[in-house]
Amino acid sequence: PGVPDLEALQHEDLAWLLPVPGAESDKYRRGVVGVLAGSARYPGAAVLAVAGALRGGAGAVRYVGHAGDAVIAAHPETLVHPGPPDKAGRVQAWVVGPGIGEGPGAGVAVGEVLASDVPVLVDADGLRGLVPDAVRARTAPTLLTPHAGEAAALLGVAREEVEAGRLAAVRELAGRFGATVLLKGSTTVVCGADGGPVRVNPTGTSWLATAGSGDVLSGLAGSLLAAGLPALDAASCAAYLHGLAARRASEGGAPVTATEVADSLRGAWRDVT
Ligand code: AMP
Ligand code: MG
Repeated sequence: PGVPDLEALQHEDLAWLLPVPGAESDKYRRGVVGVLAGSARYPGAAVLAVAGALRGGAGAVRYVGHAGDAVIAAHPETLVHPGPPDKAGRVQAWVVGPGIGEGPGAGVAVGEVLASDVPVLVDADGLRGLVPDAVRARTAPTLLTPHAGEAAALLGVAREEVEAGRLAAVRELAGRFGATVLLKGSTTVVCGADGGPVRVNPTGTSWLATAGSGDVLSGLAGSLLAAGLPALDAASCAAYLHGLAARRASEGGAPVTATEVADSLRGAWRDVT
């Protein structure tokens, strides 16, 4: 008794959790986020993850991967690095996985990022074959952001089982991996690495069920990690803003694209601060 099973962020929580640059801030202090995403086949995932990272207030975004030309064309403010992640220069948090594909190179890149000593968000293809010991051995926080299918693969159960017990699934994943886990879906839930109450996101909308919207979320959450938010707060604030942005973009009921969700993050941010 005394410890609730569930909690939800309120509008007012966002205002004091979200980072605001101080007068003597500079781009490094605001947080540099590294994004390892995209591939020749899926350049858009990189573009969308970087969009989310830029809109999350990072001081700078460093991109590593095979979609540098597409990223620069869409977001000229990105610092594109040709080499492996450990040669990209200092970052305060990594986002790894959206659109990197299934090739052996993808797994190697994920391993290199996990070997870093900064917070890492792992999403999408980065979650393929992820081993609990590799995450548990890390010295910095890890945030996993699976949808139900990805969560089911990590747990070795059917997707239906995850859908039927989302709270149990998010708790089980957090415990096994020793990581904060954001389980996406019709109701997005977040569990901290040490257990505790599961945070339920109140702002979702089914218009978010559109290609690329998860990539925007991962960039956004990574940006908040780079700013220094604890993984649980970074994940729950990102889910909150992402849902709010989708509702804004949909203007009461029109379909939205992932690009429009990213663009609406500015307005969502203004709404809560
Ligand atoms: P992904 O599965 O990676 O493409 O991410 C999809 C995004 O859309 C996540 O933020 C989900 O939480 C969200 N989403 C998917 N389906 C729904 C739904 N039915 N209602 C609300 N949000 C959804
Ligand atoms: Mg996804």
